[in-house]
Amino acid sequence: MAEYIITTDKGQWEVVVGLEIHCQIISQSKIFSGASTEFGDEPNTNVSFIDAGMPGMLPVLNQECVHQAVKTGLGLNAKINKYSEFSRKNYFYADMPTDYQITQFRYPIVGEGKVDIDLSDGTTKTIGIERMHIEQDAGKSIHDLSPTKSYIDLNRAGVGLMEIVTKPDFRAPEEAGAFLRKLRSILRYLGTCDGNMDEGSMRCDVNVSVRPYGSDELRTRCEMKNVNSVKFVMQAIENEAKRHIEVYENGGIIEQETRQFDPTTGLTKVMRKKEFAHDYRYFPEPDLPPLILSDEYINSVRNEMIELPDAKKQRFIETLGLTPYDAMVLCENKETADFFEQATAGHDAKKVANWMMGDFFAMLNKKRLDITQSPISAENLGALVELISKDVISGKIAKDVFEIMAQTGENPEKIVEERGLKQVTDTGAIESIIDAVIAANQDNVAAYKNGKTNLAGWFVGQVIKQSQGKANPAIVNKIVREKLDS
Ligand code: MN
Repeated sequence: MAEYIITTDKGQWEVVVGLEIHCQIISQSKIFSGASTEFGDEPNTNVSFIDAGMPGMLPVLNQECVHQAVKTGLGLNAKINKYSEFSRKNYFYADMPTDYQITQFRYPIVGEGKVDIDLSDGTTKTIGIERMHIEQDAGKSIHDLSPTKSYIDLNRAGVGLMEIVTKPDFRAPEEAGAFLRKLRSILRYLGTCDGNMDEGSMRCDVNVSVRPYGSDELRTRCEMKNVNSVKFVMQAIENEAKRHIEVYENGGIIEQETRQFDPTTGLTKVMRKKEFAHDYRYFPEPDLPPLILSDEYINSVRNEMIELPDAKKQRFIETLGLTPYDAMVLCENKETADFFEQATAGHDAKKVANWMMGDFFAMLNKKRLDITQSPISAENLGALVELISKDVISGKIAKDVFEIMAQTGENPEKIVEERGLKQVTDTGAIESIIDAVIAANQDNVAAYKNGKTNLAGWFVGQVIKQSQGKANPAIVNKIVREKLDS
């Protein structure tokens, strides 16, 4: 992509960004207890003694969470570590009764990986993954129910999280946005996290620093915690970078700190001076043994892997002849890709893609529907394309049929049959319309013969209009010219 350089009166700057993303693991029960992970239940109803931090309670690792983490690691093209271990990260939060979080520190379950992102100019860039570890979530403090009290809901306490840490590979807000969308797409394909940033099941911490353009130093970074949409992440990067530049250009220094992004102003404000790893007094979790995975286990998870968006996109381009852009859009979520594949079965893939990218998405958008709620089934969209390919209906009539399909959900053959919309390809029937049009417009025939040959198009239009759009345009065109030239 075009380089993202911030230019001021005093110089040119480059932004350096890394992301840390907490992703809630999809599992029935929590990572170290049997309590339910259901979102939106009555507060404090899904809390076991372990989640409440009762003395003497012992955590038991949920193997489904491990399974989901390994799947995710493979989806990030990352190394799965056969040895990993749990640590205690000590800190106080009112919504964390144990005063420590069980997490992974020195030995995470997933090591280095890489993810390709698609940029708006059609290029791709590879972003490095530093690591991914698993840990437990904290509960939730609720401050807006009472002017004087805070409430604590422990339903979320102990829900499994995957924390994905990228390398500081982003050089523009757009790249971070593209990565988050890609990550969300991969997680949803895998079914390991629902990726809903607005519900907090995917939460992004953004590390930003700047440096003079062309230098490769890494300057002090600031971290924005829990930015909760792709748009806000991009905005936070842009504004935080500007703040750093202003400080540097006025001779100041940036201190490592944790900041909060305020969506209403778009600006960041300081929360606290950054704590360092040693402040947490990490130590190995005494109640859990190291996690050891066998090659057989890792391979069995590998064998379960489904086709992910990049591979699917490549296949759509190579075997179905789609453009890279169409393939990217159709593969962004699995439901759309599945719909496309069903619709295209036995039909012209490029034509199906065109209909989906055009009228079909516009219809869903207008009706504010998700593709799974589409009134037009995949089979029926494919059937519509088939009717056009076989010249049963014209492209123009197809638009009308599509509208009726969107309203009624009926199949296109039935609509065409019942409403008599079949294209007229019978040359005899077309000829008689043409003869009538020519007979009624002798002045234009004369003008045509005197050299105004572009009137042929006008005759074609009249004939198609008289046939109520059903006459095949190619046939009309051919016969009109023959008759006018004779
Ligand atoms: Mn974490």
